[in-house]
Amino acid sequence: MSMEYAKNILETIGNTPLVKINKLTRDLPCLVLSKYETFNPGNSVKDRMALKMIEDAEADGRLKPGGTIIEGTSGNTGMGLALAAIVKGYKCIFVISDKQSKEKMDILRAVGAEVVVCPTDVEPDDPRSYYSVSKRLGEETPNSWYVNQYDNPSNAKAHYESTGPEIWKQTDGKITHFVVGVGTGGTISGVGKYLKEQNPDVKVWGIDTYGSVFKKYHETGIFDENEIYPYVTEGIGEDILPENVDFSIIDGFTKVTDKDAAVYTQLLAKEEGMFLGNSAGAAIKGVLQLKEHFKPDDVVVVLFHDHGSRYVGKMFNNEWMKKMGYLD
Ligand code: PMP
Repeated sequence: MSMEYAKNILETIGNTPLVKINKLTRDLPCLVLSKYETFNPGNSVKDRMALKMIEDAEADGRLKPGGTIIEGTSGNTGMGLALAAIVKGYKCIFVISDKQSKEKMDILRAVGAEVVVCPTDVEPDDPRSYYSVSKRLGEETPNSWYVNQYDNPSNAKAHYESTGPEIWKQTDGKITHFVVGVGTGGTISGVGKYLKEQNPDVKVWGIDTYGSVFKKYHETGIFDENEIYPYVTEGIGEDILPENVDFSIIDGFTKVTDKDAAVYTQLLAKEEGMFLGNSAGAAIKGVLQLKEHFKPDDVVVVLFHDHGSRYVGKMFNNEWMKKMGYLD
């Protein structure tokens, strides 16, 4: 017998379980399985793409020894990048918008990153926006590499190479529908492309939020600025079109309200014992909204991005829920 251990924490990324949803899906005719990404060491799916983006940047010389990694991140990508940076010897500066939970900022600082906070309610091209600030820091900091998860092709590639093949293998090729929240688009595009290459009949559905451009753009090809307004749901939706969203492999989007996303985040914990982040609540509510698309033999896989601990001050705080009008 030889000893069995990971050589470092990065080797534990991936190979997450598929877990059946039992109670919340009782009115659906089909099997619903969740790809449970909080088992990654940074507690989110983003560990996969963070490591892949770093490895690809090392390979072609964009990231050099002792360099500084700069990114605009809502938290989970930052965690993944920070873990890899610690193991590999890089520094991190993260730019984050002020609507993100304080827990997310504290967690990033806990793993050694410098965190710069920017206002949410400004245009993307405003010099104060987190898109602009992260770009500027990238230009000003010596030996730095600006990750740009929105347009970095290694993001979707990570999911094409790992998340997609895992889901295909775990369902023994029986998956019929893949449902997932869309932010940068890396997860849906990478997993969706892989699954459709194995079986073109697999349907790929994106979860969007009110205040985001994706659904309207997918349906009409029009980038409608009237669709853009502030929203509460964290992790999904955008006011830009990231290059990582491959609209051609997406069959449709459904939008979930801020209230439903918050309420279903609580219900996942209370009814399934699944203590997960806000986009998981949006994702499972989105699956329920898609009921008419499912038949008895279907196998639906919904991906849950991150962990509930980052939302204890919000969706798991009933005072906050009442203040927002989400609890009756
Ligand atoms: N949920 C959470 C909690 C996230 O952090 C993200 C990434 N912004 C997403 C969903 C969306 O994933 P992707 O960026 O791959 O589209």
